[in-house]
Amino acid sequence: MGERVVAIYPHPDDETFGKGGALALHVKQGDTVTVVCATLGQMGRNMGKPFFANRESMPDIRRKELDAACHALGVTDVRLLGLHDKTIEFEDPERVAGMIFNIVQELRPTRVYTYYPGHGVHPDHDALARATIQAIRKLPPDQRPVVYASAITRNRIEACGEPDVVLDVSSVFAEKIAAMKAHRSQSEASMKRMEADIEAHPERKEEIEAPFKTERYWIYQVS
Ligand SMILES: [Zn+2]
Repeated sequence: MGERVVAIYPHPDDETFGKGGALALHVKQGDTVTVVCATLGQMGRNMGKPFFANRESMPDIRRKELDAACHALGVTDVRLLGLHDKTIEFEDPERVAGMIFNIVQELRPTRVYTYYPGHGVHPDHDALARATIQAIRKLPPDQRPVVYASAITRNRIEACGEPDVVLDVSSVFAEKIAAMKAHRSQSEASMKRMEADIEAHPERKEEIEAPFKTERYWIYQVS
């Protein structure tokens, strides 16, 4: 039987940047994949370059970008928690954990992707990761999914050790790039820069693309 995978992140694009390869691989393997997105990134300072969004249109744009990115990764089940961007750390952790617990109870995942609590850099990343762990803790130990955590702080190796999983996602590179491009308001400028770099230095194409072809995860022990 395949894995039941749930990826739980606060912002549209968290599921793609650094993790989209793993999700696309799960889809290819026939696993069921659900993306849970807690906010719509309303407070993002990126409004596209050139600007094509404002605060009012942002949630709608990012919702569409999220759907398009998930579509590119092959993920059809996308759930929103409806929380507000940049405020997750001020929410009642029990309430957020309860929302996640309901989803986890319904979907019974065998594997959960989230940030590594304390190593997500952004307060939303850490707060949602903590709520996710809290939700998983409510399950009996033998029903808990394996937690694949992303640690992105500078001191991650000192603090968390080497990653437990170094995943080659080169076989789904095209899907991942398509998903990154789908998050246009967040990625357009950097994607254009990357394409221009490759055009100017075709001999460096592999080197420029390499960081996107490997993903690193830490198995977080829920105790
Ligand atoms: Zn984020």
